[in-house]
Amino acid sequence: MSNTKTIREIHDAFDAGITNPLALTQAFYSKIDQSKHNAFITLCKDRALKQAEQLTQDLKSKHGGKVPRGTHPLYGIPLGIKDVLTMDGVRTTAASKMLDNYISPYTATAVQKLENAGAISLGKLNMDEFAMGSSNENSAYGNVLHPTHPDRVPGGSSGGSGTAVAADLCVAALGTDTGGSIRLPASFCGIVGMKPTYGRISRYGQIAFASSLDQIGPMTKSVEDAALLTQVMSGVDMYDSTTADQPVEDWVKVVRDTAANPSPQGMRIGVPKEYFIDGIDSEVRQAIEDTIEKLKAQGAEIVPVSLPHTEYAVATYYVVAVSEASSNLSRYDGVRFGVRPKAAMEAGSPAEFYKKVRANFGAEVKRRIILGTFALSSGYYDAYYRKAGQVRRLMRNDFEAAFKNVDVIVSPVAPTTAFKIGEKAKNPLQMYLTDIFTIPASMAGLPAMSVPVAKDHQGLSIGMHLIAPRFKEGVLLKAATIVERISS
Ligand code: GLN
Repeated sequence: MSNTKTIREIHDAFDAGITNPLALTQAFYSKIDQSKHNAFITLCKDRALKQAEQLTQDLKSKHGGKVPRGTHPLYGIPLGIKDVLTMDGVRTTAASKMLDNYISPYTATAVQKLENAGAISLGKLNMDEFAMGSSNENSAYGNVLHPTHPDRVPGGSSGGSGTAVAADLCVAALGTDTGGSIRLPASFCGIVGMKPTYGRISRYGQIAFASSLDQIGPMTKSVEDAALLTQVMSGVDMYDSTTADQPVEDWVKVVRDTAANPSPQGMRIGVPKEYFIDGIDSEVRQAIEDTIEKLKAQGAEIVPVSLPHTEYAVATYYVVAVSEASSNLSRYDGVRFGVRPKAAMEAGSPAEFYKKVRANFGAEVKRRIILGTFALSSGYYDAYYRKAGQVRRLMRNDFEAAFKNVDVIVSPVAPTTAFKIGEKAKNPLQMYLTDIFTIPASMAGLPAMSVPVAKDHQGLSIGMHLIAPRFKEGVLLKAATIVERISS
């Protein structure tokens, strides 16, 4: 099989008998074995090959080696899973030494739904520790290399997912997005990334970072693939009470219908003035403005909008995210969860025991636990976490007001293209600003996507960010399909 095929193309290739799930799975493993990207932490070869063999046997015995009409489009499709999602019997580390030896006894709902449809999980993808980061330099298992520029970062925290899809080490991948971790690496790696509405996809089996923000989503080679994976994963789950009872539409049909007639005629596209600030790389700005011009030329109505509380987004996010992280990560005490090193077992007191256990967190995770513990402590809760919640409401109101006049909002995904390894690692504040355009949609729980639109003079990808109202994935995917078509 040649490189970088979408789910649909592979399904068609199965259908035509050109390849089969087992041959394809083996081919991906040999590519992964040769790759220097460090995109995977753990491979589950036995599990995946067994499943692939079974699917291939079924095809051969029942259907003469061909995919029968009506077979699910995910049947036999090899995927990569970010290592923050659990899989039964598979090591799940969240890229932390703290979970180095953790074998999960259950599978995350999102992964289970994909596997039920016939998808094959190849392994667990590298990431920033506990999904904290923007560059994938915070992994306890080493940084991930950018798919085409090995001196650069793939973006984070789902950097393994971004590189694996772009370098064709899997057909598509799952990432998670708390403040931009799907959209940023998608933009840096030149693929499609989608963060659905908060509550669309169950978080059961997703190792928690900041529970009021965390969302699972697809990272894919096409908008249609993103629609398909989102469609399969969405829906109410009795194991996650925050899942929303909202109709799951046929988003693949939305994408296909739009692709048949990709006109933005009548679409109102909002351009927030606060997102076109000084400090955006000039090539990034140009690429986004050019795409907006193309949309306008083809009939879209371009509407200037204002999101006045954008300037507080990063500061507010870092109060909410670190506070929730400090609470979520308290379970890693060496008793309930987490490694229990020999040194801890020899500790003379419980305090000493906890210290030895919790020393296994990396620097960024420790920084956030300390900050979050402070922000939630008695006397400060009102000044920080409660206040952040209030500002968050204002940010949501901003979007609600803007969406009275527009269908979608567009912006750059990030102020720059993929930066060099080490360039921002020593300056957490500068690193945090990478997410300036993705955080507001996370704070408001909105569905948002990154779609590649151009490359800079060094060949580095530039993504356009699209944001839609809550539970309007259909509108988002329609706009994304149009952007994908006019950019290709
Ligand atoms: N870069 C942001 C952070 O470090 C977002 C991470 C994420 O979305 N998981 O918190």
